[in-house]
Amino acid sequence: MSLVRRALALVWSSTRRWTVLWAVVLVVLGVLPALTVYVSKVLIDGLVVAAGQGVAWAVIEPLLGPGVAMALLLLAAHVLGSTARWIRTGLSETFRDHLRSLVHGQAVSLDLAHYESSAYHDRMHRVMGEVSHRPIVMLESLGSVAQSAITILGMAALIVVYAWWLPLVLVVGAVPALVVALRFSRRRHAWWMRRTQDERWTNYYETLMTHSSVAAEIRLFRLGDHFRELYQALRMRLRNERIDLERRHIVESVAAGMVALIVTAAIMAWITLRALRGLATIGDIALFYQAFSRGQNLMRTLLVGTGQVYDSSLFVSELFDFLSLRPMAVLTTGDPLDGRPEEVRFEKVSFTYPGSEQTVLNDIDVTFRRGRTVAIVGENGAGKSTLLKLLCRFYDPQGGCIYVDGRPMTTVRPQDVWSMSTVLFQFPVQYHASARDNIVYGDIRATPNDTAVERAATLAGIRDRIARLPDGYETLLGRWFVDGEELSGGEWQRLAMARAFYRDAPVVILDEPTSMLDSWAESEWFERFRELVADRIGIVITHRFTLARRADVIHVMKHGRIVESGSHDELLLLDGLYASSWSEQVASAG
Ligand code: ADP
Repeated sequence: MSLVRRALALVWSSTRRWTVLWAVVLVVLGVLPALTVYVSKVLIDGLVVAAGQGVAWAVIEPLLGPGVAMALLLLAAHVLGSTARWIRTGLSETFRDHLRSLVHGQAVSLDLAHYESSAYHDRMHRVMGEVSHRPIVMLESLGSVAQSAITILGMAALIVVYAWWLPLVLVVGAVPALVVALRFSRRRHAWWMRRTQDERWTNYYETLMTHSSVAAEIRLFRLGDHFRELYQALRMRLRNERIDLERRHIVESVAAGMVALIVTAAIMAWITLRALRGLATIGDIALFYQAFSRGQNLMRTLLVGTGQVYDSSLFVSELFDFLSLRPMAVLTTGDPLDGRPEEVRFEKVSFTYPGSEQTVLNDIDVTFRRGRTVAIVGENGAGKSTLLKLLCRFYDPQGGCIYVDGRPMTTVRPQDVWSMSTVLFQFPVQYHASARDNIVYGDIRATPNDTAVERAATLAGIRDRIARLPDGYETLLGRWFVDGEELSGGEWQRLAMARAFYRDAPVVILDEPTSMLDSWAESEWFERFRELVADRIGIVITHRFTLARRADVIHVMKHGRIVESGSHDELLLLDGLYASSWSEQVASAG
C-alpha cells in the first residue's frame, strides 16, 4: 500500500492541475451511468403508459422531462468521455517527462562503479522502459477502480430496492475475473523480470545494426545478417512467450466471463418471472438488464483495475529502488579544497574493479608535483587508465591512500576532487554540438569566454581547422543532424583536447593523446603543453616513448605495478624495461 501511496505522491508532485482535473472528471463519469439507467427506466415506464394513447400534448408532456434529462446525460457522457481522454494525455505526458527528468538526474549522478554491474544495466533498462509509465498506469487503474466503484454503488442502489441480495450476486459473479486478473499480473511480472537480459541483448543487436559508429565495420566484415539472425532468434522466443502468456490469459478471461454471463441470465430469468406474475414492469426489466450487464462489466473493470494496481506496484518498487540509490557525492562529505594543490600522492594504493577478481593496481607509490610533467608508460592493460580514474576519484582504492597536499582524498569534498582535474580521455566523446560548445563543455559552469576558447583551440592545434568550418566556431559538428559537419577521428580528438585545456584545473591529464600527434611536430606541441602546465600538475599517459622522454619524470608500469621511475636518461642508464622498450621502438621507427 505504501508503494501505491508513494507512486501517487510522485504523480501529484509532478502535476497537480492535471491530477485534480482528472479526479473531477472521473467522479462525474462515475455517477453518470447509474443516473442514465434510472432515467431510462422512468422513460420506458412512461413510454409503456403512453404507447397507443395517440400523439397529444397531454401524452407527450410527462415524457418530456425524462427525455430531456436522458439527452443531457448522454451528451454529458459523450463530451466528458472525450475530455477525459485529453486530460489523460495531459496528465501522462507531463508525468512522463517529470519522471524521465528524475531518472536522468539519477543516471548522471550515480557513480561509475554502477556501470560495472550487469544488474545495474538490467535495472536501468527496466526503469527506462516499462517502469516509466507504470505510476500512470497505476493512477489510471486506481481511477477506473474508483469510477467503477462509484457506478457500481449507484447500480447497487438501484437494484437493492428489489431484493437485498441482488448486489451480492453482482459481486460474486465477478470473483473469477479477479482471480484471473491477479494471476495474470503475477505471471506477467515474473516473465518481465526474467526477460530483461534478453531484451537488452535485442537492443544491443539493434544498435549494432543501426548505429553510425559501427556501420563501417559491420559492412566490411559482413556482420549485418549475423546480427539480424541473432536478433530474430531472440525476438522469436520473446514473442512466443508473450503470445503464450496472452493466450492463457484470454482462455481464463473467457471462462470468467462465462460465469458472469450465467449469473446475468439467471437474474434476468428471475425478473422476467416476476414481470410475468405482474410484480415488475418492462422498465424494471430494462433496468435490470442494464444494471446487471453493465454492472458485471464494471465489476470486471474494477477487479482488473485492482489487479493492475497490484501489478504496477511490483514494477514501481523497481523504480523507487533505482531512485533511492545514492551516489558517492551525496553519501560522502568532506572539507573544501583550498587553493590549487601542490602535490597528489599515491601511497601503497591497490585496486580491484567492483565485481572483478583481478587486482589491477598493486602497491602503487607515486607522487605528482606541481610544475613537473609526468609520463606514465606501459603496455596495454598495465593499469595506466585505472590510475587516472582513481586520481579523479571515480573509484576509491581498496588498499592504501591517495593524499592531496597531505590530506586523504576521501576527506575532501567530492565535487572539489572532480573539478580539480581536467582529462583528455582515451576515447573522448564527440558531442553533436557547435565547435564552440564542444570546447566550452570543458567548464560549463564558468562564464563562456571566447579568448579562453581560442587559446584552448590553439594549444590543441585545432584552431585552423575550426576556422575552415563553414560557420567557424558556430558550426554544428557530427552528421546526425541537418547541416552537421563531420571531423576526422584525429580532429575530434584535438577538439576534445581543447575541451580539456579549456578547464582551468590544477591537474591536467592526457590519456593517450598520441593518435592525433602523428602529423605534428611532437616536440613543439610538448613544449606548449609544458608551458600550460608550468604551474600545474601535468600527467601524460602514453605508450609512445618519444613523447614520454620529454617528461620530467617517467613511471613505467607493468601488471599494475610501477616498476621503474626516473628521467629518460636515468632510465636508459638503468638499462631495464624502459631502456629495452626504448631501443625496440626507436629501432622499429627506423
Ligand atoms: P591501460 O590503460 O594501461 O591499458 P587499464 O587501466 O585500462 O590499462 O586496464 C588495466 C586492467 O584493468 C585491464 O586488464 C583491464 O582488463 C582491467 N579493467 C579495465 N577497466 C575495467 C573495468 N571497468 N572493470 C573491470 N576491469 C577493468
